[in-house]
Amino acid sequence: MTERIAGTYAPTLTDSADPVIGTWDTGRPGPTVVAVGALHGNEPSGLLALGRVLAHLRQAEVPLRGRFVGLVGNRAAHAARVRYHVRDLNRGWDDARVGALLARPPADDDAEDRAQRALLGVLAPLLAAATEPLVFVDLHSMSSHGPPFAVLGDTLRNRRVGLSLCIPVVLGLDETIDGTLMGWLVDQGHVGVGVEAGQHEDPASIDVHCSILWLTLAAAGAVDEGMCPWLPEHRRSLRGHALDLPAVLELRHHHRTPAGDGFVMRPGFRNFARVRAGDALADDAQGVITAPFSGHLMLPRYQPQGDDGFFMASSVRRVWLDLSARLRATKAHRWITRLPGVVPHPDLPDHYRVEAHRIRHHVVNVFHLLGYRRRHVEEEWLVFSRRRPDHREDPSDATDQAGQADGVDRGGDPSHDDRSAGSQPPKAR
Ligand SMILES: [Zn+2]
Repeated sequence: MTERIAGTYAPTLTDSADPVIGTWDTGRPGPTVVAVGALHGNEPSGLLALGRVLAHLRQAEVPLRGRFVGLVGNRAAHAARVRYHVRDLNRGWDDARVGALLARPPADDDAEDRAQRALLGVLAPLLAAATEPLVFVDLHSMSSHGPPFAVLGDTLRNRRVGLSLCIPVVLGLDETIDGTLMGWLVDQGHVGVGVEAGQHEDPASIDVHCSILWLTLAAAGAVDEGMCPWLPEHRRSLRGHALDLPAVLELRHHHRTPAGDGFVMRPGFRNFARVRAGDALADDAQGVITAPFSGHLMLPRYQPQGDDGFFMASSVRRVWLDLSARLRATKAHRWITRLPGVVPHPDLPDHYRVEAHRIRHHVVNVFHLLGYRRRHVEEEWLVFSRRRPDHREDPSDATDQAGQADGVDRGGDPSHDDRSAGSQPPKAR
Protein backbone atom coordinates (compact mmCIF):
# COMPACT_ATOMS: atom_id res chain seq x y z
CA MET A 1 0.00 0.00 0.00
CA THR A 2 1.32 3.38 -0.86
CA GLU A 3 -1.18 5.90 0.48
CA ARG A 4 0.45 8.61 2.52
CA ILE A 5 -0.47 11.67 4.49
CA ALA A 6 0.73 14.65 2.56
CA GLY A 7 3.49 16.63 4.19
CA THR A 8 4.01 14.48 7.23
CA TYR A 9 7.35 12.91 6.46
CA ALA A 10 10.38 13.68 8.52
CA PRO A 11 13.16 14.34 6.02
CA THR A 12 15.36 11.57 7.43
CA LEU A 13 12.79 8.86 6.71
CA THR A 14 13.13 6.41 3.89
CA ASP A 15 10.25 4.49 2.39
CA SER A 16 11.27 1.35 4.24
CA ALA A 17 10.79 3.23 7.52
CA ASP A 18 7.41 4.65 6.52
CA PRO A 19 4.87 3.72 9.22
CA VAL A 20 1.81 4.76 7.16
CA ILE A 21 0.27 1.67 5.60
CA GLY A 22 -2.85 3.39 4.36
CA THR A 23 -5.33 6.23 4.79
CA TRP A 24 -8.97 6.83 3.89
CA ASP A 25 -10.23 10.39 3.62
CA THR A 26 -13.15 11.44 1.45
CA GLY A 27 -12.66 15.11 2.27
CA ARG A 28 -15.74 15.30 4.51
CA PRO A 29 -15.19 17.11 7.81
CA GLY A 30 -14.96 14.94 10.88
CA PRO A 31 -12.67 13.29 13.41
CA THR A 32 -9.20 11.91 12.81
CA VAL A 33 -8.95 8.26 13.81
CA VAL A 34 -5.47 6.74 13.94
CA ALA A 35 -4.92 2.99 14.40
CA VAL A 36 -1.56 1.36 15.13
CA GLY A 37 -0.81 -2.32 14.51
CA ALA A 38 2.30 -4.36 15.40
CA LEU A 39 3.70 -1.91 17.93
CA HIS A 40 4.97 -5.25 19.20
CA GLY A 41 6.50 -7.04 16.24
CA ASN A 42 5.21 -10.51 17.13
CA GLU A 43 1.57 -9.32 17.06
CA PRO A 44 0.57 -9.37 13.36
CA SER A 45 -3.23 -9.42 13.71
CA GLY A 46 -3.69 -5.66 14.05
CA LEU A 47 -1.70 -5.01 10.91
CA LEU A 48 -3.66 -7.60 8.93
CA ALA A 49 -6.94 -6.15 10.20
CA LEU A 50 -5.86 -2.66 9.17
CA GLY A 51 -5.18 -3.92 5.66
CA ARG A 52 -8.63 -5.54 5.50
CA VAL A 53 -10.54 -2.54 6.82
CA LEU A 54 -8.69 -0.06 4.59
CA ALA A 55 -9.43 -2.28 1.57
CA HIS A 56 -13.10 -2.54 2.58
CA LEU A 57 -13.38 1.25 3.01
CA ARG A 58 -11.98 1.73 -0.50
CA GLN A 59 -13.99 -1.02 -2.20
CA ALA A 60 -17.27 0.10 -0.62
CA GLU A 61 -16.28 3.76 -1.05
CA VAL A 62 -17.52 4.44 2.46
CA PRO A 63 -18.22 8.20 2.75
CA LEU A 64 -16.38 8.40 6.05
CA ARG A 65 -16.43 11.68 7.98
CA GLY A 66 -12.94 12.91 8.83
CA ARG A 67 -10.06 10.58 8.08
CA PHE A 68 -8.71 7.20 9.04
CA VAL A 69 -4.97 6.56 9.20
CA GLY A 70 -3.42 3.09 9.61
CA LEU A 71 0.12 2.80 10.97
CA VAL A 72 2.58 -0.04 11.50
CA GLY A 73 4.42 0.25 14.81
CA ASN A 74 7.57 -1.88 14.76
CA ARG A 75 8.08 -2.83 11.12
CA ALA A 76 11.58 -4.30 11.62
CA ALA A 77 10.55 -6.46 14.57
CA HIS A 78 7.44 -7.55 12.67
CA ALA A 79 9.61 -8.67 9.75
CA ALA A 80 11.75 -10.71 12.17
CA ARG A 81 8.67 -12.01 14.05
CA VAL A 82 10.01 -10.81 17.41
CA ARG A 83 8.37 -8.51 19.98
CA TYR A 84 11.27 -6.04 19.63
CA HIS A 85 14.98 -5.98 18.80
CA VAL A 86 16.56 -3.76 21.49
CA ARG A 87 13.78 -2.35 23.66
CA ASP A 88 9.99 -2.48 23.96
CA LEU A 89 8.65 0.12 21.50
CA ASN A 90 5.59 0.59 23.73
CA ARG A 91 7.65 1.81 26.71
CA GLY A 92 9.58 4.84 25.47
CA TRP A 93 6.78 7.38 25.23
CA ASP A 94 7.01 10.32 27.60
CA ASP A 95 8.04 13.91 26.96
CA ALA A 96 11.54 13.43 28.38
CA ARG A 97 12.40 10.34 26.34
CA VAL A 98 10.73 11.60 23.17
CA GLY A 99 12.64 14.89 23.53
CA ALA A 100 15.91 13.07 24.10
CA LEU A 101 15.35 10.89 21.03
CA LEU A 102 14.64 13.86 18.80
CA ALA A 103 17.73 15.68 20.13
CA ARG A 104 20.03 12.78 19.19
CA PRO A 105 21.40 12.36 15.66
CA PRO A 106 19.47 9.65 13.78
CA ALA A 107 22.80 7.95 13.01
CA ASP A 108 22.88 6.81 16.66
CA ASP A 109 19.42 5.18 16.47
CA ASP A 110 18.90 1.54 17.37
CA ALA A 111 16.08 -0.43 15.69
CA GLU A 112 13.35 0.82 18.04
CA ASP A 113 14.66 4.41 18.00
CA ARG A 114 14.23 4.35 14.23
CA ALA A 115 10.67 3.04 14.51
CA GLN A 116 9.77 5.59 17.20
CA ARG A 117 11.29 8.44 15.20
CA ALA A 118 9.28 7.33 12.15
CA LEU A 119 6.03 7.21 14.15
CA LEU A 120 6.75 10.66 15.57
CA GLY A 121 7.26 11.93 12.04
CA VAL A 122 3.64 11.02 11.28
CA LEU A 123 2.06 11.73 14.67
CA ALA A 124 3.65 15.10 15.44
CA PRO A 125 1.93 17.03 12.61
CA LEU A 126 -1.42 15.39 13.45
CA LEU A 127 -1.06 16.35 17.11
CA ALA A 128 0.08 19.87 16.28
CA ALA A 129 -2.89 20.44 13.95
CA ALA A 130 -5.55 18.94 16.24
CA THR A 131 -8.25 21.35 17.35
CA GLU A 132 -10.21 18.57 18.99
CA PRO A 133 -9.18 15.23 20.44
CA LEU A 134 -7.79 12.74 17.95
CA VAL A 135 -8.99 9.16 18.45
CA PHE A 136 -6.26 6.51 18.69
CA VAL A 137 -6.65 2.76 18.81
CA ASP A 138 -3.65 0.55 19.54
CA LEU A 139 -4.05 -3.06 18.33
CA HIS A 140 -2.33 -5.75 20.39
CA SER A 141 -2.56 -9.47 20.99
CA MET A 142 -1.49 -11.83 23.75
CA SER A 143 0.85 -14.77 24.27
CA SER A 144 -1.99 -16.78 25.86
CA HIS A 145 -5.48 -17.58 24.61
CA GLY A 146 -8.44 -15.72 26.08
CA PRO A 147 -11.24 -13.27 25.30
CA PRO A 148 -10.45 -9.82 23.92
CA PHE A 149 -10.50 -6.73 26.13
CA ALA A 150 -9.88 -2.99 26.02
CA VAL A 151 -7.36 -1.06 28.09
CA LEU A 152 -7.74 2.66 28.58
CA GLY A 153 -6.57 5.54 30.71
CA ASP A 154 -9.49 6.30 33.01
CA THR A 155 -10.83 9.51 31.52
CA LEU A 156 -14.53 9.94 30.72
CA ARG A 157 -13.90 10.49 27.00
CA ASN A 158 -11.88 7.26 26.86
CA ARG A 159 -14.62 5.38 28.71
CA ARG A 160 -17.20 6.53 26.14
CA VAL A 161 -15.25 4.94 23.31
CA GLY A 162 -14.07 1.91 25.28
CA LEU A 163 -17.54 0.98 26.56
CA SER A 164 -18.93 1.06 23.01
CA LEU A 165 -16.58 -1.70 21.84
CA CYS A 166 -18.68 -4.58 23.26
CA ILE A 167 -15.68 -6.22 24.99
CA PRO A 168 -14.62 -6.00 28.66
CA VAL A 169 -12.86 -2.77 29.64
CA VAL A 170 -9.99 -3.01 32.12
CA LEU A 171 -9.36 0.11 34.21
CA GLY A 172 -6.05 0.82 35.91
CA LEU A 173 -3.83 -1.31 33.65
CA ASP A 174 -2.89 1.63 31.45
CA GLU A 175 -1.78 3.72 34.41
CA THR A 176 0.34 0.87 35.77
CA ILE A 177 2.62 0.76 32.75
CA ASP A 178 4.85 3.76 32.19
CA GLY A 179 5.80 5.09 28.80
CA THR A 180 3.09 3.61 26.55
CA LEU A 181 2.21 5.30 23.28
CA MET A 182 -1.48 5.49 24.27
CA GLY A 183 -0.65 7.01 27.66
CA TRP A 184 1.51 9.67 26.06
CA LEU A 185 -1.25 10.61 23.61
CA VAL A 186 -3.99 10.64 26.26
CA ASP A 187 -1.81 12.86 28.45
CA GLN A 188 -1.89 15.34 25.59
CA GLY A 189 -5.69 15.40 25.78
CA HIS A 190 -6.54 12.85 23.09
CA VAL A 191 -8.71 9.74 23.13
CA GLY A 192 -6.78 6.47 23.29
CA VAL A 193 -7.90 2.86 23.64
CA GLY A 194 -5.70 -0.22 23.49
CA VAL A 195 -7.20 -3.58 22.51
CA GLU A 196 -5.79 -7.03 23.30
CA ALA A 197 -7.55 -9.17 20.70
CA GLY A 198 -6.59 -12.76 21.53
CA GLN A 199 -3.61 -15.06 21.00
CA HIS A 200 -0.87 -13.72 18.69
CA GLU A 201 -1.18 -16.39 15.98
CA ASP A 202 -4.92 -17.07 16.25
CA PRO A 203 -6.73 -16.00 13.03
CA ALA A 204 -9.71 -15.01 15.21
CA SER A 205 -7.57 -12.16 16.57
CA ILE A 206 -7.64 -10.57 13.09
CA ASP A 207 -11.47 -10.70 13.03
CA VAL A 208 -11.60 -9.14 16.51
CA HIS A 209 -9.31 -6.30 15.44
CA CYS A 210 -11.41 -5.71 12.31
CA SER A 211 -14.55 -5.42 14.44
CA ILE A 212 -12.73 -3.11 16.86
CA LEU A 213 -11.66 -0.82 14.03
CA TRP A 214 -15.23 -0.51 12.69
CA LEU A 215 -16.68 0.14 16.14
CA THR A 216 -13.98 2.69 16.96
CA LEU A 217 -14.77 4.55 13.74
CA ALA A 218 -18.45 4.48 14.77
CA ALA A 219 -17.70 5.66 18.33
CA ALA A 220 -15.65 8.53 16.93
CA GLY A 221 -18.56 9.57 14.69
CA ALA A 222 -16.61 8.84 11.50
CA VAL A 223 -19.11 6.21 10.29
CA ASP A 224 -22.67 5.13 11.14
CA GLU A 225 -25.00 2.25 10.30
CA GLY A 226 -26.36 4.14 7.30
CA MET A 227 -23.00 4.03 5.56
CA CYS A 228 -21.79 0.77 7.21
CA PRO A 229 -24.76 -1.64 7.57
CA TRP A 230 -22.32 -4.30 8.82
CA LEU A 231 -21.73 -2.55 12.19
CA PRO A 232 -24.35 -4.59 14.14
CA GLU A 233 -22.72 -7.83 12.99
CA HIS A 234 -19.39 -6.65 14.41
CA ARG A 235 -21.09 -5.82 17.73
CA ARG A 236 -22.69 -9.26 17.84
CA SER A 237 -19.37 -10.91 17.03
CA LEU A 238 -17.51 -9.12 19.81
CA ARG A 239 -20.26 -9.77 22.36
CA GLY A 240 -19.89 -13.44 21.50
CA HIS A 241 -16.28 -13.31 22.72
CA ALA A 242 -17.11 -11.55 25.99
CA LEU A 243 -19.11 -14.53 27.29
CA ASP A 244 -20.07 -14.00 30.93
CA LEU A 245 -17.25 -11.59 31.76
CA PRO A 246 -17.91 -8.31 33.58
CA ALA A 247 -18.29 -5.25 31.33
CA VAL A 248 -15.69 -3.37 33.39
CA LEU A 249 -12.87 -4.65 35.57
CA GLU A 250 -10.38 -2.83 37.74
CA LEU A 251 -6.75 -3.84 38.02
CA ARG A 252 -5.71 -4.45 41.59
CA HIS A 253 -2.40 -6.32 41.38
CA HIS A 254 0.68 -6.29 39.11
CA HIS A 255 3.35 -8.99 39.47
CA ARG A 256 6.59 -7.63 38.01
CA THR A 257 9.42 -9.96 37.03
CA PRO A 258 12.93 -8.43 37.16
CA ALA A 259 15.42 -9.90 34.68
CA GLY A 260 16.98 -13.12 35.90
CA ASP A 261 14.42 -13.90 38.60
CA GLY A 262 13.54 -17.21 36.91
CA PHE A 263 9.85 -16.39 36.53
CA VAL A 264 7.82 -19.18 34.91
CA MET A 265 4.05 -19.06 34.66
CA ARG A 266 2.38 -22.37 35.50
CA PRO A 267 0.76 -23.91 32.41
CA GLY A 268 -2.89 -23.78 31.47
CA PHE A 269 -3.99 -20.27 32.50
CA ARG A 270 -6.08 -18.31 30.06
CA ASN A 271 -6.50 -14.59 30.22
CA PHE A 272 -9.39 -13.66 32.58
CA ALA A 273 -9.18 -17.06 34.29
CA ARG A 274 -11.00 -16.96 37.60
CA VAL A 275 -8.59 -17.82 40.42
CA ARG A 276 -8.99 -18.01 44.17
CA ALA A 277 -6.78 -16.41 46.81
CA GLY A 278 -3.81 -18.68 47.45
CA ASP A 279 -3.93 -20.55 44.12
CA ALA A 280 -0.43 -21.29 42.78
CA LEU A 281 0.06 -19.22 39.60
CA ALA A 282 3.79 -19.20 38.84
CA ASP A 283 7.27 -19.95 40.20
CA ASP A 284 10.50 -17.98 40.41
CA ALA A 285 13.81 -18.25 42.22
CA GLN A 286 12.08 -17.39 45.50
CA GLY A 287 9.53 -20.19 45.19
CA VAL A 288 5.80 -20.43 44.44
CA ILE A 289 3.83 -17.27 43.54
CA THR A 290 0.18 -17.39 44.63
CA ALA A 291 -2.93 -15.32 43.87
CA PRO A 292 -3.15 -12.46 46.43
CA PHE A 293 -6.98 -12.42 46.27
CA SER A 294 -9.87 -14.09 44.44
CA GLY A 295 -10.50 -12.49 41.05
CA HIS A 296 -9.52 -12.60 37.38
CA LEU A 297 -5.98 -13.43 36.28
CA MET A 298 -4.84 -11.07 33.53
CA LEU A 299 -2.10 -11.36 30.88
CA PRO A 300 -0.20 -14.40 32.17
CA ARG A 301 3.19 -14.20 30.46
CA TYR A 302 4.17 -17.33 28.51
CA GLN A 303 6.84 -15.64 26.36
CA PRO A 304 10.49 -15.06 27.30
CA GLN A 305 10.61 -11.30 26.73
CA GLY A 306 8.96 -8.73 29.01
CA ASP A 307 8.96 -7.76 32.66
CA ASP A 308 5.24 -8.13 33.48
CA GLY A 309 4.58 -11.56 34.99
CA PHE A 310 0.81 -11.30 35.35
CA PHE A 311 -1.92 -8.97 36.59
CA MET A 312 -5.07 -9.50 38.63
CA ALA A 313 -8.38 -7.65 38.39
CA SER A 314 -11.83 -7.48 40.00
CA SER A 315 -15.18 -6.56 38.45
CA VAL A 316 -16.52 -3.00 38.79
CA ARG A 317 -20.21 -2.29 39.39
CA ARG A 318 -22.16 0.02 37.13
CA VAL A 319 -23.23 2.23 40.06
CA TRP A 320 -19.56 2.93 40.77
CA LEU A 321 -18.98 4.03 37.17
CA ASP A 322 -22.02 6.31 37.24
CA LEU A 323 -20.95 7.84 40.54
CA SER A 324 -17.41 8.49 39.32
CA ALA A 325 -18.73 10.12 36.14
CA ARG A 326 -21.00 12.42 38.16
CA LEU A 327 -18.22 13.36 40.56
CA ARG A 328 -15.82 14.16 37.75
CA ALA A 329 -18.44 16.25 35.92
CA THR A 330 -18.72 18.42 39.04
CA LYS A 331 -14.92 18.64 39.31
CA ALA A 332 -15.05 17.05 42.74
CA HIS A 333 -11.25 16.60 42.66
CA ARG A 334 -11.03 20.17 43.96
CA TRP A 335 -12.17 18.84 47.32
CA ILE A 336 -9.68 15.99 47.38
CA THR A 337 -7.42 17.70 49.91
CA ARG A 338 -10.23 17.41 52.46
CA LEU A 339 -9.44 13.71 52.64
CA PRO A 340 -7.30 12.83 55.65
CA GLY A 341 -3.59 13.28 54.99
CA VAL A 342 -3.98 14.40 51.32
CA VAL A 343 -2.01 17.51 50.28
CA PRO A 344 -1.26 19.04 46.86
CA HIS A 345 2.14 18.19 45.45
CA PRO A 346 4.42 21.23 45.91
CA ASP A 347 5.93 21.03 42.41
CA LEU A 348 3.65 19.01 40.13
CA PRO A 349 0.23 20.38 39.05
CA ASP A 350 -2.74 18.02 39.48
CA HIS A 351 -0.66 15.65 41.63
CA TYR A 352 -1.55 14.90 45.25
CA ARG A 353 0.46 13.16 47.91
CA VAL A 354 -0.30 11.21 51.04
CA GLU A 355 2.09 9.96 53.69
CA ALA A 356 2.47 6.31 52.72
CA HIS A 357 2.05 4.98 56.25
CA ARG A 358 -1.20 6.96 56.67
CA ILE A 359 -2.88 5.81 53.43
CA ARG A 360 -6.32 4.29 53.98
CA HIS A 361 -8.18 1.98 51.61
CA HIS A 362 -11.14 4.39 51.25
CA VAL A 363 -8.76 7.22 50.30
CA VAL A 364 -7.36 5.09 47.47
CA ASN A 365 -10.93 4.34 46.36
CA VAL A 366 -11.77 8.05 46.22
CA PHE A 367 -8.65 8.72 44.15
CA HIS A 368 -9.76 5.97 41.74
CA LEU A 369 -13.31 7.37 41.56
CA LEU A 370 -11.85 10.69 40.45
CA GLY A 371 -9.52 9.07 37.91
CA TYR A 372 -6.27 9.33 39.90
CA ARG A 373 -4.95 5.84 39.19
CA ARG A 374 -1.29 6.56 38.64
CA ARG A 375 0.88 6.51 41.70
CA HIS A 376 4.55 6.58 42.52
CA VAL A 377 6.63 6.75 45.68
CA GLU A 378 8.62 9.84 46.67
CA GLU A 379 10.50 9.31 49.93
CA GLU A 380 7.77 8.79 52.53
CA TRP A 381 5.01 9.97 50.18
CA LEU A 382 2.65 8.19 47.82
CA VAL A 383 1.93 10.53 44.88
CA PHE A 384 -1.36 10.18 42.96
CA SER A 385 -1.99 11.56 39.47
CA ARG A 386 -4.30 10.91 36.53
CA ARG A 387 -4.43 10.94 32.76
CA ARG A 388 -5.31 14.36 31.46
CA PRO A 389 -9.10 14.66 31.78
CA ASP A 390 -9.89 16.97 28.86
CA HIS A 391 -8.52 18.23 25.58
CA ARG A 392 -9.69 21.79 26.13
CA GLU A 393 -8.79 22.63 29.68
CA ASP A 394 -11.26 24.63 31.72
CA PRO A 395 -9.25 27.75 32.69
CA SER A 396 -10.95 27.74 36.10
CA ASP A 397 -9.68 24.23 36.69
CA ALA A 398 -6.31 24.41 38.39
CA THR A 399 -5.13 21.27 36.63
CA ASP A 400 -3.75 22.75 33.45
CA GLN A 401 -0.57 21.16 32.24
CA ALA A 402 1.79 23.64 30.73
CA GLY A 403 2.06 23.63 26.99
CA GLN A 404 -0.67 21.12 26.28
CA ALA A 405 -3.38 23.59 25.35
CA ASP A 406 -1.18 26.05 23.50
CA GLY A 407 -2.81 27.31 20.37
CA VAL A 408 -6.14 25.70 21.18
CA ASP A 409 -9.20 27.91 21.24
CA ARG A 410 -10.67 27.47 24.71
CA GLY A 411 -14.10 28.83 23.89
CA GLY A 412 -16.98 27.76 21.67
CA ASP A 413 -17.88 24.39 20.35
CA PRO A 414 -15.33 22.11 18.78
CA SER A 415 -15.57 22.23 15.04
CA HIS A 416 -14.25 19.73 12.58
CA ASP A 417 -13.98 22.42 9.96
CA ASP A 418 -11.52 24.84 11.50
CA ARG A 419 -8.38 22.83 10.95
CA SER A 420 -5.27 24.92 11.01
CA ALA A 421 -3.54 25.72 7.76
CA GLY A 422 -0.77 23.27 8.64
CA SER A 423 -3.12 20.31 8.32
CA GLN A 424 -3.38 18.97 4.80
CA PRO A 425 -6.04 16.31 4.56
CA PRO A 426 -4.88 13.52 2.31
CA LYS A 427 -6.86 12.54 -0.77
CA ALA A 428 -8.89 9.39 -0.88
CA ARG A 429 -7.34 6.91 -3.26
ZN1 LIG B 1 1.44 -5.90 22.46
